[in-house]
Amino acid sequence: MSLNCDIVMDLVALYHDGEASKTSQSAVKEHLRQCKRCREFYRQYGITTPASQSFHFMSNGNYNELAKQMRIRRLWTVAAVLGYVSASLCALIMLLMRVRED
Ligand SMILES: [Zn+2]
Repeated sequence: MSLNCDIVMDLVALYHDGEASKTSQSAVKEHLRQCKRCREFYRQYGITTPASQSFHFMSNGNYNELAKQMRIRRLWTVAAVLGYVSASLCALIMLLMRVRED
């Protein structure tokens, strides 16, 4: 099975992290052995991207962004609940004080 250079370059990230399937791995390896351009690309990729950060980098970025948004949303929910609870407590205390005055 011989791969197209574009496909190999797409797969290099997975291959680099060891997350490609066995079939893809051996196909990429085979291609890298034959294709100088892709071998060079893989070499550069290995230099600029430490293993196990390469492929996850973008998805992690998105996840962090999502987590941040969720955190902010949760913070607002907590603030709203606290506001509601303290408002209710205030109302309750005022009610109790008024009852005691009577
Ligand atoms: Zn190639």
